Amino acid sequence: MNGLAWLQGLWEQGKQRLNPHSLQFQLTVGIALVSAVGISSITAVIAWQLDRLIVTSHKRQVATLAERFTESVEIYSEMMSTPAAMQRAISHLTTGDTLIWVESPDGEIVAMSEALAMGGRDQQVLEIAEQGISPIPEIYAINQGYWIMCGNTLEVQQQDWGKVHLAHDITGDQRMFYRLIGMLGGVSVVAIGGMTIAIAVYIQKSLKPLQQMRQQTAALSAEQLGKEELVLTNAPSELHQLETAFNQMLKRFHESWEQQRQFVSNVSHELRTPLTLVCGYLQSTLRRGQNLSEPQQEALTIAASEAKRTVQLLEDLLELARAENHHLHFRQAPILLNDFVREVVDMSKQYSQRTIEFKPDRALVEVLADQDRLKQVLLNLIDNAVKYSEPEQPITIIVEKEENQGVIKVCDRGPGIPLAQQSRIFERFYRLDEARSRTEGGVGLGLSLVQTLVEGMGGTVSVRSQLQEGSTFIVTLPILEN
Ligand code: ADP
Repeated sequence: MNGLAWLQGLWEQGKQRLNPHSLQFQLTVGIALVSAVGISSITAVIAWQLDRLIVTSHKRQVATLAERFTESVEIYSEMMSTPAAMQRAISHLTTGDTLIWVESPDGEIVAMSEALAMGGRDQQVLEIAEQGISPIPEIYAINQGYWIMCGNTLEVQQQDWGKVHLAHDITGDQRMFYRLIGMLGGVSVVAIGGMTIAIAVYIQKSLKPLQQMRQQTAALSAEQLGKEELVLTNAPSELHQLETAFNQMLKRFHESWEQQRQFVSNVSHELRTPLTLVCGYLQSTLRRGQNLSEPQQEALTIAASEAKRTVQLLEDLLELARAENHHLHFRQAPILLNDFVREVVDMSKQYSQRTIEFKPDRALVEVLADQDRLKQVLLNLIDNAVKYSEPEQPITIIVEKEENQGVIKVCDRGPGIPLAQQSRIFERFYRLDEARSRTEGGVGLGLSLVQTLVEGMGGTVSVRSQLQEGSTFIVTLPILEN
C-alpha cells in the first residue's frame, strides 16, 4: 500500500469514527462525559472538604488562643499591672504568623505584638480591625493574603479593658491548598483523557462483531444465500443470538428464492412449447392468408409478433435459470473477432435498417468464446442500441486488442443512462424507464442474460454512459495467444 492510500484509509477511518451519528461515537462521548462529570464532582467535593478542614482548624486555633489570652492576662495581672500583664501574655502567645493587640475603650492601643509595633505589611490588618470585626473567627482576604481574625471585649478582674484582637495569617496554607487543587485538577484531566481513550478502544473492540456482520452481509449475493452463513468471532451472547436469527432468516430467503427460481423455470418450460406452436400456426396462417381482410391480417401480424416476443422472453428466462443451476454449457473455441463481429453487424444492419459502423482493430483479435452465445450477446447489445437511440443516430461497433483481452464496444448516441442506474441495469427485470421500455417491448432481461453469458465465457461486461451523449457497452473476452 502506498503512502497516499494509507493516509486516505486513515482519513476515512477517522471520519467514520467521528461521525456523530455512529454508535461508536455516541457511546464513547456519552460514557466519557459521564466519567468526566463523575471525576470532576469527586475532585470538587475533595477540594471543598479540604478547604473547610483547613479553615475550620485555623478558626478553632484562633478561638482557643483568644480564650488562653484572657486567662493568661488574669494570671499575670496578679503579679504586675494589667497593661504589663497584657504585653507579657501577648509576647508569650504570639507566634510568627499570629498577631494580638488590645485597644482601650477610648481607641488607644495599649498592648500589641512586636511585629505590629515595627509597622510594615501588617498595618492593613489593623485598618480592617478598626472597621469592626466579628467576635467569632472569620476569614478575611487582605493584600493578596488570607487571615483569620476575631475581636472580643476584654475584662480583667471585672474591669473593662476594651477589645482584644487576634489575627492569624493562613496565606501559606491557603497557597499550598490551591497548589494541591491545581495538581488534583491536572490529575483529573489526565485521568479523564486516559479513560476516554480506554473507553474508545474498548467500545471499538466491542462493536467489531457488528462491523463483521455488516461486511459479511454486504458481500452476500442472492446466489450465495444457501452457501454462506454469518460467522461472528468473539461476539457477546446477544450478538450470537442475532447471528443465529439472521442465519435462519437467510435460510428462509434461500428457500423462497429457490422456489421462485424453480417456479419461473417450470412456467417458462411449460409455456414455451405451446407458445412456439401458436407462433408457428399464426405465421403459417399469415403466409397462406391471401383471402383474409386487411384488419384480420393486421390483427394476426400483431398476435404473431407478440407470441414471438413472448417465446423469446421464455427462452431468456430458461437460459438464465440454466445458468444459475450451472446447466449452461459453453463450447469455447477460437474466434477471430474482426470477421465474426463484422458478420453479426451485417446481419443487424439488414434486420434493423440502421446505420451501423464497424471499426475493427488493425491487428487480428482472436478470443476464446462460444460462437452462438457471443452472437446472442452482440445481437442483444446492438438491439438495445437500436431501441434506445433515434433512427438517424449512428451506432458504432469497435473491436480492439488490449493486453490480454479482446474488447468489443457497442456505442450509441442515445439518451444515456444516469450514473446511479448504470450498475443496476444488469439486474434481472430492471428497466430504466418503464414507459419507454414497455413501448419498445423490453422486459429488462436482455442485459442480465448478456452478463451471465459473457461471464460464463470468462469475460466481463460494463457500461460507460453520459446523459444526452450516449452509451458504450464494453465486452471483454480472454484473448487467444499465438
Ligand atoms: P430491455 O429488455 O428493457 O431492453 P435490458 O436488460 O436489455 O432490458 O436493459 C435494461 C434497461 O437498460 C433498459 O430498460 C433500458 O432502460 C436500459 N438500456 C439498455 N441499453 C441501453 C442503451 N443502449 N441506452 C440507454 N438505455 C439502455
